Amino acid sequence: MNFCENCNIACDNERCPKCGRKKLRTVQEDDFCLVAKVDRLFGDSLKYILENENIECVFMPYGTGVNSKFALPLESYLLYVRYKNIDYVRQILKDYNA
Ligand SMILES: [Zn+2]
Repeated sequence: MNFCENCNIACDNERCPKCGRKKLRTVQEDDFCLVAKVDRLFGDSLKYILENENIECVFMPYGTGVNSKFALPLESYLLYVRYKNIDYVRQILKDYNA
């Protein structure tokens, strides 16, 4: 598995699917990788679940420019977790989104 340091994306490809960068390195267990975009309410409960399980996670606010402009709450988060936890967290996402 490769890893793009620009985008924090783990991928099988030689090129990053997001920025197109070619010089990817091998992903490390402790790299924070983008898992998914989650909506704000779900993100808040997910954060609670992950913290309860001692899984380190980063929720980056992600929203439309309009919302930030009017100081409205942002609509969603980009969720990053360490690569070693990524499969587990994807499974949680599946379970909750099903
Ligand atoms: Zn990239």
